[in-house]
Formats: sequence, structure tokens, C-alpha cells
Amino acid sequence: MKITDIEGYVLDFPQDPPWGYSKGWVTSAPTLLIEVSTDEGITGWGEAYGPPEPIHELIQNLSGPNVTGADPFETEKIWGMLRHEIRDHSQSGIAMAAISAIDIACWDIKGKALNTPVCKLLGGPVHETLHCYASAIRYTKDPDQSDALTDPVVPAKRYLEQGFSAIKLAIGMLDISEDIERIKSVREFLPSDVDLMIDANHAYNSKTAKQLAKQIEDLDIFWLEDPLSQDDFPGYRSLRASTSIPLASGETLSGRPAFRDILVEDIFDVLIPETGLAGGLTETKKIFDLTDVFGVGCTPHGFASVIGTAAAMHLAASHAPNPFTTGSESLPFEWTPPPLDRFGNLAIDPLRCVDGKVIVPIERPGLGVEIDRDALRMLSRVA
Ligand SMILES: [Mg+2]
Repeated sequence: MKITDIEGYVLDFPQDPPWGYSKGWVTSAPTLLIEVSTDEGITGWGEAYGPPEPIHELIQNLSGPNVTGADPFETEKIWGMLRHEIRDHSQSGIAMAAISAIDIACWDIKGKALNTPVCKLLGGPVHETLHCYASAIRYTKDPDQSDALTDPVVPAKRYLEQGFSAIKLAIGMLDISEDIERIKSVREFLPSDVDLMIDANHAYNSKTAKQLAKQIEDLDIFWLEDPLSQDDFPGYRSLRASTSIPLASGETLSGRPAFRDILVEDIFDVLIPETGLAGGLTETKKIFDLTDVFGVGCTPHGFASVIGTAAAMHLAASHAPNPFTTGSESLPFEWTPPPLDRFGNLAIDPLRCVDGKVIVPIERPGLGVEIDRDALRMLSRVA
């Protein structure tokens, strides 16, 4: 089998209502899907995490001799060649997102060609369903009060009613005193057996993060995610020494060396690699394995459309809890339920979360997602 072509689709998912997080308000969440074609008529889908147009341009540049004509089963070889080609110019970001998308599409092709789900090719499934957390309480405007924000307990109640037993709250847009009130109100509302994560998306400096952590120390926070800039190792060392709240990070990192560096630093309890940025399924599986030997928890980042989400599901489904003992449970899987919309009507058989669990599409080959071409056209950005 030989790869013959790569087609890119820049998609826009309108967010209604708009939502805010530490970096501002979001009205549309774009992404890049690619479809890799082969000479046997099988095509595979990949998704990149990051700004779609420059990633697409890079894929078009990379897709010459190292991809066109290559055998999509040889994912190690393709990954290695692409990594070598761009190594001198970039170790992360757009470059690794481009490789990630190509790699994910190759795994989809492999599964379809063998009539086998990707998680089985990765050594699984270890899990056929994934316990999820609703990564969903962002800042929204209260429709009944102009200029006021929605009380975060309102969506917390909704996700609790939907069966989620873990919920993530975005912080970092307001003064820490106001955000601490939001955290307290949600924590006080949730039953004690429901986990609450908070995600600051790199909002703070070390001093502010320590002030925040000190004031929420007793609120049973499941993890505090990305309080500082991802390169602020001294800040993280200082924060870690000052708080007992578990710290999480990793969604902006690419490749094993970057994960090795933060594992060696011993500053995080949980790592959250993004399959569409960390290096696709080939590399992110190795990152998961690396976290095991450091005794650090790992669960995929999730803010992709159906392709990236399916890739993350197959990866999580194929990873054994460490240690594999009775009662050991994997970390929850990140899921963005409505009204956040990253799926549109893109999948003919949509991925669904029921009672806080997603069912891994192990009955279908490849990633298990069939793209609706009409929906793809509707969501595609007009140049
Ligand atoms: Mg995050």
C-alpha cells in the first residue's frame, strides 16, 4: 500500500454561547482535519492541534518524498523521517502538530485495511468504556443579567444530572479572589465523591499561583492544571513545594524529550498529552509508557473534533492502569459536552458520552469515525 495524496480541511466550530477562559472569549474553535489517500482506495483521517492554516501549509511541504509513496503501515519509519526533516528547525508546536496529524491518519488507514480498531493495534483494548470528566465549566455571560457571568453552579448542576462524576472548571480570567469564590461555590455544591479539577491555562506567575493554591488548599481539588507558563520550571518547583494540591500539565508539549524533562523535574502529578500535538499516536503512546516508569498519571488532553477525540479514546483504551491491580483506576478522560461544540454533525455515528462514560468504538475499523461529507463542507472555512 502506498500513500498517494493528503487533502486538508480547515474547519470552524461556532461556539454558541461564546465562552471565556484565561486567554479571552471564544466564539469559534477552528481545527485542521486531513484525509490521507492510498493507492488501494482506503483513506485515513488525522487531526492537528493548533493554528490550522500554518499547520496545513507545513503538511503540504512535508508531504512530498517522505510521505507520498510511503507505506502507511510503516508509522515508525514515516514518523522518524518527518521528525528528522524538521528537527533542526522546530521541536514542538506547529511542526509536531503536522507530524501528529499525518501519523493519526496512517493509524486510521492501518485499522481500516486490517478491519481492526486502532486500540487493538495499540495492544488493547484494556478498557471498552472510559470514565470521563466534563471539561466544560468555562466563563459564560448570564443571559438574564447583562454584563454578569453565569453562576458556575448552574452548569455544574447540569453535568452532575448528566451523570458525570468529575468536572473541570476554567479559572484565570478574573482576579484570584473572584475565581476562588467560583471554585468554592462549585466545590460546596458538588457531592464529596465528585472530583473537581481546575484549569488556569497558564494564567499566573509564581507568586499569584501560590496565593491561589494556599486559599484553595482545603477544597479537595483533584488537580490544578497549568497555573504557570509551561516553561517556568523554577516557578513550578516553588509552587510544588508550597502546596499539596496535585499539579497537572502537558497539553502544549511535544515529543518524548519534552515530557522526559518535566518528568525528571518531578513537578507534576498528572500529564495530559494532546495526541494531535505531542506526536500522534506513535509518539503519544510512548509518552504514556514513559510516564508509567516515573509513576506519574497520564490521560489525554481533549479539545479536538471527532478525529482527534477518537484517536485519544483509542490510546486511552489501550493503556493499562499502572500498577495493573484490582481496584486501580485510570485517570478520567477529558470530554467537552454541549453546549461546547467540537463535533458538529461531522461523524455519521457520533461519539457519545452516556452517564459520564464514553464507549470506545471497538466494533468499527480504524478510528471508528465515518465523516459526513456534507457536514465537512458546511464546517469548512471559506478561504
Ligand atoms: Mg488544559
